[in-house]
Formats: sequence, C-alpha cells, structure tokens
Amino acid sequence: MKSGSAKEIWETALGELELQISKANYRTWLDKTVGLSCSESEFVIGVPNTFVAEYLDKNQRSMIEKTLIGLLEKPVTVTFGLVSSQQPSGSFFGGSKPLVPAGAGHLNAQYTFDSFIVSNANRMAYAAALGASENPGLRAYNPLFIYGGVGLGKTHLLHAMGHVAQGTNRNVFYLSAEQFTTEFVCAIRERKADDFRSKYQSADMLLVDDIQFLGGKEQTEETFFHIFNELHNNNRQIAVTCNQLPKSIPQMDDRLRSRFEWGLTTSVQPPDFETRLSILQAKIGSEGVEVPQQVLNLIAEKIKRNIRELEGALNRVTAYARLLGTAITPDLAREAMEDIGSRQPRIPLTPPLLLDTVATRFQVPVFDLKSKKRDKQTTLARQVAMYLLRSEISCSLSQVGKELGDREAITVSQACKKIADEIQQNPELKKKVLDIQQEIRQKAMNS
Ligand code: ADP
Ligand code: MG
Repeated sequence: MKSGSAKEIWETALGELELQISKANYRTWLDKTVGLSCSESEFVIGVPNTFVAEYLDKNQRSMIEKTLIGLLEKPVTVTFGLVSSQQPSGSFFGGSKPLVPAGAGHLNAQYTFDSFIVSNANRMAYAAALGASENPGLRAYNPLFIYGGVGLGKTHLLHAMGHVAQGTNRNVFYLSAEQFTTEFVCAIRERKADDFRSKYQSADMLLVDDIQFLGGKEQTEETFFHIFNELHNNNRQIAVTCNQLPKSIPQMDDRLRSRFEWGLTTSVQPPDFETRLSILQAKIGSEGVEVPQQVLNLIAEKIKRNIRELEGALNRVTAYARLLGTAITPDLAREAMEDIGSRQPRIPLTPPLLLDTVATRFQVPVFDLKSKKRDKQTTLARQVAMYLLRSEISCSLSQVGKELGDREAITVSQACKKIADEIQQNPELKKKVLDIQQEIRQKAMNS
C-alpha cells in the first residue's frame, strides 16, 4: 500500500497493530487514534490526550513506525498531535489544542519566541536565536550552535527561529539529524543523492535538531558538510542543536566540529526555581486551568532538571484531578507525582516487545517477520524471533507460530533447533542473540 489517505493508511496500520499487542493495551492506547496526515517523511497520528501521546511516544513508537514503513514502503517518522476528544466533558488538559498542520515545515505552532520563558539559564541562547532569525546569515551567528541537556528548550528555540523566518517567506528547513540521515539513506538508495543535496542547499535557513546523531555516520556527515559549506558561503543561516559541545561529540568529523565553532556556540541550562514557576504559570495561563500557587510550588520544587518533565508533571496533576473529579490540592498533587521519576508505564515482557527488538536489531519491519517474505535477512530474523519467543517468554510452539503470521508448529520447532545449533557455530549470530536477550530483559526490567 503506497497511496491512500492518512486516515485509511492508519486504519490499515491499526489492523496490523491490533494483532501485535494485547486487546487491553490496544483499547487503552490505540483505540481512539486517527490518521491525520501523511507527508513525505512524517505521519501524524491524532490522539485524544497528552497521556496517550506520551505513552505511545515512549513505548510504541518504533512498533508503529515499523508498521507504517511496512505499509508505505518508505521511511516515516511518527508525530503525535492532540485532537479534540469527541466528548468535551471528558477532554483532558490540553486536549483541545489545535493541531499543527503537517507540511508547514513541521514546526510546532506552540514553540515560539513569545512562549519561551527567558531566564539567566537561557538568555544568551534566546537572544542569539532571535537575532539569527531576524538577521539570518550574519557571520556572528552563523552557524548558531545551541547545546544543553534534555528538555531544556533547544528544539523550542529552533522551531521559534523557523517561525520567524517562515513569516518573512524564507525557505526554511527544519528537521532532526536523524530524519536528515534517514532521508539521505533513502535518497542514496533511489540514486537521488544530488536531488537531496540541492534541496537542502536551496535553504535560506537550515535548522537541524540533535546534530550529535550524525556522529559516526560518515557518508551523511560528508553530505551535511557540503551542504553546510554551500549555505555558509552564501550567507544562509544554519542553526543546530546538540546535547553537548562540538568538541565532545563522539565520532564527529573534525572538519565539521570546527565549522560548528565558526559562529556562535551557546548553551541552555536547567532553570532555577523562579523560572520553573514562571514556566508553570505561563503554561496554566495558556491552557486556561486554575492551579493553586502552593501546588505550583510543589511541582517546581520536585522537578528541577527538565522542562518537559516539569510540564508533564503539571499535566499529570491536572489530569488526575479531572479523572477523580476533585479539586487540585497539594495532597492530590503529591499523590499524582508519587511515581514520577519511575514514570515509565510498566512494560511486561511480551511477544510484541520481543518482536520489536528483534526487528530493530535485524533492521527488518515487524510486519515482514509476520509476512511471507523469505529473503535471507528476514528469514533469519524470523527464526531468531521464534527461538527467543520460546526461550525468553516460554511461548508454546503454536503460540509462536501465531505470533509470526500463522506458521505451523513444526516450522517453529525446526527454526528453533536450527538457531540453537547455529549459535554454537556462528559467534556473530551468538553475539547478536545475546545482545537481543540482554536488551529485552533490560526493557522488561526497567518497567
Ligand atoms: P530539548 O530540545 O532541549 O530537549 P524542548 O525544546 O523539546 O527541549 O523542550 C521541552 C519542553 O519544554 C517543550 O514543551 C518546550 O516548549 C518547553 N520549554 C523548554 N524551555 C522552555 C522555556 N524556556 N520556556 C517555556 N517552555 C519551555
Ligand atoms: Mg530537542
């Protein structure tokens, strides 16, 4: 399936996903989702509230992406957007936010300079981002390199720059380094590397998020390097974010490293208490909910290092109150935040989790594991999956057969034996299987 509306594609994907996860799981997390849009590399799924978005993003993103890739036959990144729930009375905090239209450069409409709270922790990054978007291409800011820890506003600033530049009709590209890589790999495969390069070299402003991801991806780095040079020579603005300083990015090409230092390097730091409070206040202001000051203090005291978590905690508290139909009191807030820190929802070691891990390690879609495909890589991945379903989860032969596209118990049995033998003879395979074992055990343990 290559064409079709996002809605139809998603309905088909749901049919697939329903087979991959438990009924209860499906009903809780996927039942009320809709396919909203499908652009070249992004698929937007509408979800009823932030809880669902958060859960799916953390736990089922890769399974969803693989399923979609199986259907679309091209790489896509999944984004979750909130859509108003059908019953307004049951709508969650944030549940009625308008969705950002996809295709508008993939910029989140809420990530603007106006909604960014400036403090000592980010003043310079803010000023530089604003300056670079108002006067793009000035040597002093080009490139702009923003670095810092998770959830401190790097992506927010990059989007804000994009909005300003788009407002003046500039040709803006915003994407993560991971998307850049995926798209590049795809372009190579389709022998369209030149098109890829010219596309990004036509940018007035190129915004690349989480650039550390390019480290070690030599070919992609090389291409980025050429694009960078072309843009920089023509005074086109480049801004990137990173989780660390240029000089510390592992396996990054030195030529790129030094280029990152040509312009302005600036950091975002964790916010102080006052700033955390301001962020919470701004957030409740824009959402139109009322939360007592004491509760805001509590949240700001508890969550110190990550603004995304700060917002998440606030969401959680208000959602709790709504679910229970009670007032937002400090006690309720404490209760709602009790398990924050170990906030990952439980993931039992299930066949879908296992299949997902195997599929990722072998770089084949889960969908293919269950299909009739018989190329070498898919067949091997499928056999390893069978072997691990038996050894790690103790699934019965027929259960394993069912999980993998209704295969016969005898086929499963032969596959398991084959892998058990091969592991003894092939150290590479043995390592791979051990790695997968370790990964799934860890995943299950973290839950
Ligand atoms: P990063 O990219 O650094 O991991 P994000 O830009 O994704 O972080 O920020 C995480 C969340 O926190 C986003 O919802 C963002 O809007 C919000 N946020 C971060 N910094 C600020 C800030 N200074 N003011 C308001 N919201 C912020
Ligand atoms: Mg980010």
